[in-house]
Amino acid sequence: MPQVNDGSAHDDLVVVTGAGGFIGGHLVGELRRRGHRRIRAVDLKPFDEWFQLFPDADNRRLDLRGLDACREAAAGARDVYNLASDMGGMGFIETHKAECMLSVLINTHMLVAARDAGVARYFYSSSACVYAAAKQTTAAVTPLKEEDAYPAMPEDGYGWEKLFSERMCRHFREDFGLATRVARYHNVYGPHGTYDGGREKAPAAICRKVIAATLAGRREIEVWGDGEQTRSFMYIDDCLYGTCAIMASEIRDPLNLGSDELVTINELIDIVEGIAGVKLTRRYKLDAPLGVRGRSSDNTRIREELGWAPSTRLRDGMERTYRWIYGQMTTPAERRRVYA
Ligand code: NAD
Repeated sequence: MPQVNDGSAHDDLVVVTGAGGFIGGHLVGELRRRGHRRIRAVDLKPFDEWFQLFPDADNRRLDLRGLDACREAAAGARDVYNLASDMGGMGFIETHKAECMLSVLINTHMLVAARDAGVARYFYSSSACVYAAAKQTTAAVTPLKEEDAYPAMPEDGYGWEKLFSERMCRHFREDFGLATRVARYHNVYGPHGTYDGGREKAPAAICRKVIAATLAGRREIEVWGDGEQTRSFMYIDDCLYGTCAIMASEIRDPLNLGSDELVTINELIDIVEGIAGVKLTRRYKLDAPLGVRGRSSDNTRIREELGWAPSTRLRDGMERTYRWIYGQMTTPAERRRVYA
């Protein structure tokens, strides 16, 4: 991958919110690898529930829905990566719309706190869920271009909050001079993320189901929908590179950050079965939460802007994800979490 100069000195304070979560935990690790020595990692969860906890970071447990907590998080920071959000896969966002929308408090207060603290750069993790539903009704999708978010009719609840928060970033830039950068993540997957409990997304859920069936000697798994819905999935390494590159860039408008390798859910299951070396019967649950029929990322603009686009093959990323989930599911709970 090309080198990114993110513009900040290694002694500048960098804040990552949502650092106890999947992408935030990896981002703290990535910033450390890039030489940052002062990282503040913030999350609502108790420390023993963070996916990755780095002892040399300034780790803080704060509820960022409140302005005072956001001021504590942003104090003295040069850069803020705001990834904190009450979210999950389709099973969560279709049934917790109000909770998803309450993340607007996090984004509102983090923007206010960042502006008042004189933060130089502010990154916001938006989502492909901002795209208008009418553009995603068939499995044979036309990949989504950035302008397809308008006229707006995003995913109910979660998508509306993301679209509103994107716009708030834009207006904080225009009206207050806060340099905001926004990426629209498309389905990120990888190790050190949620794979059970109801917030997991399709790649992790399928790994878990295949592993659980194999360990229990069952020959069958449940699949949500008819398996012919299409998606693209971005491996975490691509997400980290793209996030840092967008933060360092002069790209002011929201930019797709996603893979354009389109697969059906059945094809994703084929990949996982291939990794596991099994073939299972699929029981399709047609009344499960499904989301849109088809979705993929149009990467024309990111290629133009960065000369790069996510390229990790799904088979390769799923292999690493499967191995990690397998390790978690076969390790006693008290030894399960990996502290970096
Ligand atoms: P995640 O759920 O693993 O991490 C989010 C973290 O935010 C959690 O650890 C959670 O405890 C924390 N959080 C929630 N409410 C908080 C609060 N009030 N105060 C402080 N922390 C709080 O999710 P993720 O997959 O790592 O996603 C990170 C960001 O990327 C989110 O904003 C999400 O909406 C966005 N995103 C993710 C994907 C994806 O596929 N994972 C896709 C599109 C957008």
